[in-house]
Amino acid sequence: MFKNKKLILITILAVFLLILTACGNKAEELPQAKDTAFLMDTLVQMQAHGENAEVAVEESMERIREIENLMSKTIKSSDIYELNHNPKTKIQISQASMAVLKKALEYAKMTDGSFDPTIGALVELWGIGTEDAAVPTQSEIEKALSNTGYQYLKLYENSAKITNPGVKIDLGGIAKGYAAEEVKDVVQKHGIQHAFVNLGGNVLVIGNKVDGSPWKIGIQDPREGRGNVMAIVDAVDSTIVTSGNYERYFEENGKLYHHIINPETGYPARNNLLSASIISENSFDADALSTAVYVMGLEKGMNFIESLENVEVMFITEKLDVYLSSGLKDIIEITDSDFNIIEGESFAN
Ligand code: ADP
Ligand code: MG
Repeated sequence: MFKNKKLILITILAVFLLILTACGNKAEELPQAKDTAFLMDTLVQMQAHGENAEVAVEESMERIREIENLMSKTIKSSDIYELNHNPKTKIQISQASMAVLKKALEYAKMTDGSFDPTIGALVELWGIGTEDAAVPTQSEIEKALSNTGYQYLKLYENSAKITNPGVKIDLGGIAKGYAAEEVKDVVQKHGIQHAFVNLGGNVLVIGNKVDGSPWKIGIQDPREGRGNVMAIVDAVDSTIVTSGNYERYFEENGKLYHHIINPETGYPARNNLLSASIISENSFDADALSTAVYVMGLEKGMNFIESLENVEVMFITEKLDVYLSSGLKDIIEITDSDFNIIEGESFAN
């Protein structure tokens, strides 16, 4: 059941290997700092180059820990725990939680509820990633579905309320993106021009590499147990966030049940996709978008991304077909010949 930890480690290593080759001669002139920690339920890895690199990395990790303490569903003093355990009550929340809840509602509306921060009852019912993961009964699913819906979350100036008992907020699909953007603020405040942070496959790079060339971010092979990179993206001041069915899942009777739930059906989203990766400038948006388009599926998700500016997407199907949005073709290199880029507008599966 805890295969996911191994896979996360592999992702991190894959990204890291590429970034290690990043250091040219000039890198030796700039002080460098790095750190790794298990935060927000995932492995967080960070590196910065510059005069204040050490303090920037330290403060960034501290900031991620603060965010976890505010937004975790399980930490009893968190804003989200308080909200979830006091329905029908206005709860004062931090500015950070407010920013994330606001953005989450924005994306819920924009995606017709494909992204839904009130997915918590269903997430708890399925228990994916825990020892208790099991396929629920249909009546359990229906009950949890009746406790899902972003209309049950109300936001006020500095407080929030759940209007229906049983509804639970879950920010697992967006909080890491917020944290990555907070890291960007922290390092920029310290004048750092070259850095990256990787929150379990949610990667953000700041500036370019010390030698002036773009960072090279490896995208992990989404097939189970493969630790290799299947594509490389040149990245400057940008983010790559992937949602996939291989990160947290269990199998029952030969069927795979993963951690991204379709709020309409109450079941893990099923659409022949292994993964959806968003490439853009802002990790906060990219995180919500990656979860949303994974739920939407290839055709709807692609059309949605093409309607947005400065956001790109790569979908990988179970057949290992790769679909790229229009702005991605020039900056991505598929390095594993098992994967086939499908050109044109055909989404036939
Ligand atoms: P990861 O957190 O593994 O990087 P995602 O960003 O796609 O991947 O987030 C998945 C998490 O988001 C789930 O573990 C759950 O907490 C939450 N989630 C699941 N389904 C949805 C959904 N339809 N909308 C919003 N959040 C979701
Ligand atoms: Mg996400």
